Amino acid sequence: MNKYYVLVVEDEKNIRSFMQTILTSNGYAVLTARNGEEALMMLSSHCPDLVLLDLGLPDLDGQVFIQRVRQWNQVPILVVSARTHERDKVTALDLGADDYITKPFGTSELLARVRAALRHAAQRSAGQRDGSYVCGGLTVDWEKRRVLLDGKDVHLTQNEYKIVALLAQHAGKVVTYDQLIRHVWGPNVVGDNRILRVNMANIRRKLEHNPAEPQYLFTEIGVGYRMAEGD
Ligand code: CA
Repeated sequence: MNKYYVLVVEDEKNIRSFMQTILTSNGYAVLTARNGEEALMMLSSHCPDLVLLDLGLPDLDGQVFIQRVRQWNQVPILVVSARTHERDKVTALDLGADDYITKPFGTSELLARVRAALRHAAQRSAGQRDGSYVCGGLTVDWEKRRVLLDGKDVHLTQNEYKIVALLAQHAGKVVTYDQLIRHVWGPNVVGDNRILRVNMANIRRKLEHNPAEPQYLFTEIGVGYRMAEGD
């Protein structure tokens, strides 16, 4: 059986062994590193399928780690961050981390994030991108540039469509405010989340049966948005 290799980079012994236990008992092969330098060495010697990265490492800033890795390696990186490091987490995503999980987290959350990151990486390497996203009653067809809800066309503005299409292409993953703003309004717009929030409120009114209890579009407070994983 071919196991996925997960590299856990974490200096705190308790959290490291907690993650190791969960992952091992769920069929993953686990490598561990206690600091950034060790992790960089293990990355090049073992080529893991996924990295779980604690942002607060003793020797190397987690963000520096991501930058260095991304120069030569596209391995999915799942950032593990403390709630107090909100801004670091966002920067990590903007630098090329794939997703994040906030401490303290539960077993099922960790496993779900790991599965999603591995699935995205597999799709990316296979160059697979179906022409559409389907989740329950919602369909986003980015070849025809159409959005359907319960079989009916949803009329979105150009910018609303761009936002929905990007989120659907990254379904299951968080997309940061900056990534969305750059995608829709271009690289020269100074980050202003307000216009994004206005667009998002309009999108939710059009796509969600009850915007207060969203089915498709979730807010990650202080970070960005996440679209539900497709069917
Ligand atoms: Ca730490």
